[in-house]
Amino acid sequence: LLEGKIRSCFAMTEPAVASSDATNIESRITRDGDEYVINGRKWWSSGGNDPRCKLFIFMGKSNPDHTSRHSQQSMILIPRDAKGIKILRHLPVFGYDDAPHGHAEIDFKDVRVPASNILLGEGRGFEIAQGRLGPGRIHHCMRLIGLAERALERMCKRTLSRVAFGKPVAAQTVTLERIAEARILIDSARLLTLKAADMMDKVGNKIAAKEIAMIKVLAPNMACQVIDWAIQAHGGGGVTDQFGLSYAYAQARTLRLADGPDEVHRNQIGKMELGRYAPADAMKAYASARKN
Ligand SMILES: Cc1cc2nc3c(=O)[nH]c(=O)nc-3n(C[C@H](O)[C@H](O)[C@H](O)COP(=O)(O)OP(=O)(O)OC[C@H]3O[C@@H](n4cnc5c(N)ncnc54)[C@H](O)[C@@H]3O)c2cc1C
Repeated sequence: LLEGKIRSCFAMTEPAVASSDATNIESRITRDGDEYVINGRKWWSSGGNDPRCKLFIFMGKSNPDHTSRHSQQSMILIPRDAKGIKILRHLPVFGYDDAPHGHAEIDFKDVRVPASNILLGEGRGFEIAQGRLGPGRIHHCMRLIGLAERALERMCKRTLSRVAFGKPVAAQTVTLERIAEARILIDSARLLTLKAADMMDKVGNKIAAKEIAMIKVLAPNMACQVIDWAIQAHGGGGVTDQFGLSYAYAQARTLRLADGPDEVHRNQIGKMELGRYAPADAMKAYASARKN
């Protein structure tokens, strides 16, 4: 994997359950002698269709009866050529096929792998997910900033070159407003991303959890807004495939869902913010009131 000769994909999300709450996951990883037997249906396994993908990192329940809901899951490595794996389809994104790294829906039926393929140990799936998702999320944010920057550049060039009602579209106050607002949004997102990255380097993902969650909400929303303005400024051309804006929008929009929807991250940020002002037992009472 590190040499780039093969690729892996992460198979956690399931069509049958609300996977933004990963404790819902129903797939099973069951010990049988020296092996584990895996059963379940996954979708949105990004890269699963890519012929270079030779390894699935599969998350499922190995200890469904564990009293802690966060200790029921494990991650296990499954070679792509293991018996019992069926790629069912390639999920389109707003009609784009997102190839070659597309997103697969996959059926795992009585798939057997050696017991040593378990990662870290039984019940440690959440722990691994937390370690992986921080760096993954900030990477998406960095790419979104680049995408928004390109959309703004196109918006400026296009509106300078098109004349409507006797003046360049760029000279309309609404265009200037949007260009200014886009610059403010992009630079705000860039600085917050830098802050989160700096904290991840210096104090680690755990302490940087709030900053990672904040940028995970801000960057996709910022990019969607900037790209939307760029589409509008291009008129009908904006929704064709001529300027790359419709595909850019499709990509940015998916990142309000992938790696956890906005709402889940906002909940986390809100709770951390409340936690600054409430003693620990008040936060416990608050959490149990929310559950009920
Ligand atoms: C392009 C793309 C790539 C992806 N890649 C992968 C991948 O490689 N591997 C993988 O395993 N998964 C992947 N996913 C799946 C992604 O992580 C899930 O779609 C996401 O976590 C949401 O889960 P769900 O689709 O089951 O939505 P659900 O859990 O059904 O949630 C539906 C909606 O409910 C609302 N909601 C949920 N919780 C709350 C809450 N606490 N408060 C308020 N509202 C809430 C939100 O609006 C949410 O969008 C990918 C998804 C996309 C779109």
